[in-house]
Amino acid sequence: MSDLTALNATRRSADLTELGDDGRVDVVVIGGGITGTGIALDAASRGLSVLLVEKHDLAFGTSRWSSKLVHGGLRYLATGNVGIARRSAVERGILMTRNAPHLVSPMPQLVPLLPSMGRTQRALVRTGFVAGDALRILAGTTSSTLPRSRRIGVPQSVAMVPIVRREGLDGGLLAYDGQLIDDARLVAAVARTAAQHGARILTRVSAVAATGTSVRLHDELSGETLEVTARTVINATGVWAGEVDTAIKLRPSRGTHLVFDAASFGNPTAALTIPIPGEINRFVFAMPEQLGRVYLGLTDEDAPGPIPDVPEPTPAEVSFLLDTVNTALGTALTTADVTGAYAGLRPLIDTGEGRTSDLSREHAVIESDSGVFSIVGGKLTEYRHMAEDAVDRALAARFITAQPCRTRNLPLVGAPANPVATLRTTSHLPSSLVARYGAEAPNVIASARCDRPTDRVADGIDVTRAEFEFAVTHEGALTPDDIVDRRTRIGLVQADRERALTAAEELLARA
Ligand SMILES: Cc1cc2nc3c(=O)[nH]c(=O)nc-3n(C[C@H](O)[C@H](O)[C@H](O)COP(=O)(O)OP(=O)(O)OC[C@H]3O[C@@H](n4cnc5c(N)ncnc54)[C@H](O)[C@@H]3O)c2cc1C
Repeated sequence: MSDLTALNATRRSADLTELGDDGRVDVVVIGGGITGTGIALDAASRGLSVLLVEKHDLAFGTSRWSSKLVHGGLRYLATGNVGIARRSAVERGILMTRNAPHLVSPMPQLVPLLPSMGRTQRALVRTGFVAGDALRILAGTTSSTLPRSRRIGVPQSVAMVPIVRREGLDGGLLAYDGQLIDDARLVAAVARTAAQHGARILTRVSAVAATGTSVRLHDELSGETLEVTARTVINATGVWAGEVDTAIKLRPSRGTHLVFDAASFGNPTAALTIPIPGEINRFVFAMPEQLGRVYLGLTDEDAPGPIPDVPEPTPAEVSFLLDTVNTALGTALTTADVTGAYAGLRPLIDTGEGRTSDLSREHAVIESDSGVFSIVGGKLTEYRHMAEDAVDRALAARFITAQPCRTRNLPLVGAPANPVATLRTTSHLPSSLVARYGAEAPNVIASARCDRPTDRVADGIDVTRAEFEFAVTHEGALTPDDIVDRRTRIGLVQADRERALTAAEELLARA
């Protein structure tokens, strides 16, 4: 039996041929980020026929530039937005226990108690952490999934973040939140699970025109154009939403992260979390990540004007992040320690004046005069809820009957309860492989046809050749860039990217 979760060039061609020049489906979804793939999964698992088109590659846009956190919503509580805070905590629990327990793990966040932090600020952080615990309990997430917050002493603080400043250190405040192994991997897992439920997922196909019942598509590889008729059309193109539907007005905000070798931070096991001077509920954080790295984020800057394909961090953002983190370090880090950097644009709803950091993170489903439904705003953490809302709205407005939403209890590919999980043990496999593929990890090795499948793709890079092959045969990678920049995140460090490209080209050509 063919593996329905496998996305690849052969399936893409077959889907395009089957669709023909006048294909008909129930739902067309435009955009292959977390929002679009979430909608495709929601609709397909209700029994509807679904086509998702993505102009570039899965997770090409904002969805690969996030902080990779599955938030409990504490930040929204601080701004009095109880509804979104509670929803975030609920969605975090669903992701961590049912949808993607293999991709999300508890991440300790350490706020070091240094002399620069006054009594009021300490009390505020402590109160916030206690409120975070209450949110977690309210959402039904147990402390075995996410441990409760607590105060810790100096030795434990230093053990968790060895480069924290010792002078005047009075221990730390510790809280836990959800951390994704990688945001782009979540998108690929959601897309493949949608395919498992029958959705057609076509990358390098763009929507060049859309109405409420039809979409004109352009195959970016062959140059061909095709028309598809649909009962409803949903625009999930994030910061590009206004290009697909001119009625949509957004106010993009740029967020930047820097990448370091974990060794520069003394190989931390907790995210060093530092209050931004003069702000009440904003922090800079340095998070331990896969591939022996630390990501330091993040900024929140107005980004008016044309939307670039790949946003760039500015020198001012780089300085701001380094200056802020250095307030809590024994030895200052400099630009010489930075091995990479990335920036993403938040698709925020334009509510007028004010700082972008104060704009609501609520999502909205908007039906314009063209009949297209657009979904904008929101957070990666809430993608499942956003998808349910968008599909409910679109189906009700078009009188389309379907089963109710099923995604609350729907395990993604790689989750132990998904049918593609094997019964084979994962204990003999590298922990990094299991962290990226969960219960599917044995399949990655077993299905590999290349020689030396368990060898690394390059010295010192903890990714196997089998993973590159799997990206091509099962995860829809069509180019070497897809492999190094999105199915894996080797490309975040240019020097690593260059070393891994040869293997990516080789395994793409063989697959
Ligand atoms: C710096 C930063 C940090 C963040 N951190 C977090 C976090 O830690 N936790 C969290 O929950 N949220 C976080 N967010 C928010 C979250 O990342 C976004 O809300 C989410 O990724 C948006 O996803 P999307 O699918 O709506 O948009 P995108 O990921 O941008 O997807 C839109 C897709 O549409 C495609 N497209 C565009 N035009 C067309 C067309 N004409 N035809 C076909 N396809 C098209 C694009 O190529 C793109 O892939 C963060 C955001 C930023 C910027």
